[in-house]
Amino acid sequence: MENMEGLTVTDCERCPALCESRSRIVNGDGPEDAALLFVGEAPGAQEDAEGKPFVGRSGDVLHEALRERGLARSDVRITNCVRCRPPDNRDPHKEELTNCRGYLETELARVDPDLVVTLGKVPTEHLLERSVAVTKEAGSVHDVRLGETTHRLLVCVHPAATLYDRSQRATFDDALDEAVALVGEGAGDQSRLGDY
Ligand code: URA
Repeated sequence: MENMEGLTVTDCERCPALCESRSRIVNGDGPEDAALLFVGEAPGAQEDAEGKPFVGRSGDVLHEALRERGLARSDVRITNCVRCRPPDNRDPHKEELTNCRGYLETELARVDPDLVVTLGKVPTEHLLERSVAVTKEAGSVHDVRLGETTHRLLVCVHPAATLYDRSQRATFDDALDEAVALVGEGAGDQSRLGDY
């Protein structure tokens, strides 16, 4: 893919609205051989400013939940379906998801994690290619063919959902417990727990 050097998209102008709204392209972050890879929706304001996924309030929730399970952010890879911030934080349009899909598939194939965890409705529906009631299906595991590679995928609610609906917290926690149990010893290096 001409714009993807290694795992990094350095230049892309496929989505005119996103080229207008972004300050920068926000690439995936974390080890290139991570066992656990989280996929979110798209960068928000903080991510756009810092150039890293999940560094705002949703990131705080995710990092804290990882820490509670003995994992540091630096143990896992975190990426998004769409690498540019949509205007007014709207959901990415279908065409934008499609435009960015090749980058995500390349990242998934290169990292080849033991488990892909989709955070919320947009990434779950995008990767399972069907409509999904995420709260109902959270914790479910699927083998999905993405590009040239088959991946094991676990559905999880978006960390932001736990901020505006406390009842989602238990669902989020249960899905993360399941993710860590599935990946087991390979999930992280306990000695790097301080690396936030
Ligand atoms: N930050 C991200 O990087 N992705 C999301 O889906 C939400 C917040």
